[in-house]
Parts: sequence; structure tokens; C-alpha cells
Amino acid sequence: MKQLNNANIENFTTYKLEGNIPVVYFPENVSELKELLLKLKKENKKYKIIGNGSNLIISSKYDGVLIKLENFDKLVIEGNIVKVESGYMLSKLSLECVKRDLSGLEFAVGIPATVGGAIYQNAGAYGKQMDMLIKNVKVLDDKGNIVVLSKDDLNFGYRDSIFKYKDYVCIEATLELKKDNYDNILSKMQENLSMRKEKQPLEYPSAGSVFRNPIGFSAGKLIEDAGLKGVRVGDAMVSLKHANFIVNVGNASGEDIVNLIKIIKDKVKEETGIVLEEEQEFLE
Ligand SMILES: Cc1cc2nc3c(=O)[nH]c(=O)nc-3n(C[C@H](O)[C@H](O)[C@H](O)COP(=O)(O)OP(=O)(O)OC[C@H]3O[C@@H](n4cnc5c(N)ncnc54)[C@H](O)[C@@H]3O)c2cc1C
Repeated sequence: MKQLNNANIENFTTYKLEGNIPVVYFPENVSELKELLLKLKKENKKYKIIGNGSNLIISSKYDGVLIKLENFDKLVIEGNIVKVESGYMLSKLSLECVKRDLSGLEFAVGIPATVGGAIYQNAGAYGKQMDMLIKNVKVLDDKGNIVVLSKDDLNFGYRDSIFKYKDYVCIEATLELKKDNYDNILSKMQENLSMRKEKQPLEYPSAGSVFRNPIGFSAGKLIEDAGLKGVRVGDAMVSLKHANFIVNVGNASGEDIVNLIKIIKDKVKEETGIVLEEEQEFLE
């Protein structure tokens, strides 16, 4: 199995963070993955499955192992049924679907996730999210068994799924899309992309929204009203364009991002009494 020693974190996070990770493994298939997980568990080693690192803040001191499923990239589309492995990029999948006049993934264009990461997080935008398309998901469970879980078994919620609470690896998903007119699908995608370009600071590395929207509030507005746009810790900065984004304007580390998150949370709590909850995950 391919492995990378002393790997640069920059290449595994969309934040392009500073620092190195001892080892990254790239299993070729489920049996290699299973064997690797059994070995790491037996040796009591810290590990993390990663997709595209677009929701992750990795500490420059992280001393665990990363397992990247980029070789899990098979795609089969028959009619309106899509079978896709978890390492496949979601944006690429949405483009493959539009080519076949399949509607459902228009929201996903511009989300730099893998299918596995998007299912873990129940990623979504513009009122649509992954669970609306899922029929079932093949997982490697905590005992090393391959199990197929139906949509109901996956406990989807707002940016939430069973994967957050169980030691399961998503291997493959079956999605059901709808036939539609090519031009309709394409124009919806283009509309979504232009909204992203207009509102999001895509010119800098980031990991999307930092905080969940508290019920009835916009996290971005709360942060902006607290006067935090442009506030920095090292090269981590609250975006001037969209206050719920932290951007890396140079050589930020995971610690810089986390320290800035603390400043934001403290100030918003002081001003409004609201405790913001992170959407992004910190690996330390
Ligand atoms: C510019 C930008 C825009 C964004 N826009 C949106 C948006 O509109 N909507 C939205 O919801 N998110 C958005 N995001 C955030 C991010 O893309 C999503 O949270 C996405 O789901 C993360 O996927 P990933 O593959 O990068 O996962 P990673 O960040 O690599 O991992 C996230 C979590 O998923 C777990 N995971 C990954 N693969 C698997 C697997 N195969 N099995 C089990 N667990 C797995 C990891 O262990 C980790 O806990 C945006 C990010 C950026 C940078």
C-alpha cells in the first residue's frame, strides 16, 4: 500500500495548513483498509479517515496517522441510480450527473468534498442536502464487517449522520436522482456557482463555514455585528467578504485557526449571549 511519510499538511487540508503528519496511508481496496484498521487498533495508534480535508483543521502537532481513500473512486451510473465509492469528488460527480440529464446534485457543485466526507457531514446548500438522494450506504463497521445501511439506519440530520457517533467507514453509496432537462440542471448549477462566487471568499484557502447557524440566526451576521471581520491570529483571518469564513492569508497553522475560533466565540457570547458551535473538526 502506498504511504507518505512526514507528509505536508498543506496537501491534505483545503485550509492549506502549516506542519507535517508522520504518515498518510492510501489503501487500494477494502481488504487493505480492513487490514490496516485492524493493525492500527491492535497497536493502539491514533488514526483518522480523511476525504478532501475540506472540513478539517489539523494541528501542526498532530501525531496520528491519516488514511486517505482517494483510490476508492469507482462510479457506475445505470438509469437514475448512481453507485459511487466514497473517495470520489462530489463536484465531479455532480458534473457526471448533469451529462446524463440527472438532477439532484446541483447544490453540490462548488463543495470541495469527497462523497464519504459529504455523507459523514450530510453536506448541503440552498435547501438541499445529501440525505435527500441516499438510498443506502455500504460501510466497514467497527468489527471489520461490510454492512449495507439503508437511509433510515443512517440517522441523518442537519450536518449530522451516524458516522459522527460510530466507528464506521463509508465505502460506497447508492444514490437515486431524477431525470430532468439538461439545460434546467446546468442553469441551476451555474446559478449556485455564481452565488458562491459572489458571497464566499474563494480566492483564499478555507474550509467553508466555521460555525453552524444557531436556530433563528445567521452565524456570519452575528460575527460581523460583533465587529470581527478582518480580525487575525497569525495568518488566520476572519474573512472580510463573509464573516463565517476564516481564511488562510499566508502560512496559518491549525493552532492559529483554533485560537481565532476561540476569540470569535468569546466575543459573540459577550455581545449576544449566544454560544456558537463549530461546524469544522479539529484534529490534535
Ligand atoms: C469553499 C468551501 C465551500 C464549502 N461549502 C459547503 C457547503 O455549501 N455545504 C456544506 O455542507 N459544506 C461545505 N463545505 C465544507 C466541506 O466541504 C464539507 O463539510 C464536506 O462534507 C467535507 O468533506 P471532505 O471529503 O473534505 O471531508 P474531510 O474534511 O476530509 O473529513 C470530514 C469528516 O468526514 C469523515 N470522513 C471522510 N470520509 C469518510 C469516509 N469515507 N467514511 C467515514 N468518515 C469519513 C472524516 O473522518 C472527518 O471526520 C465547504 C468547504 C469549502 C472549503
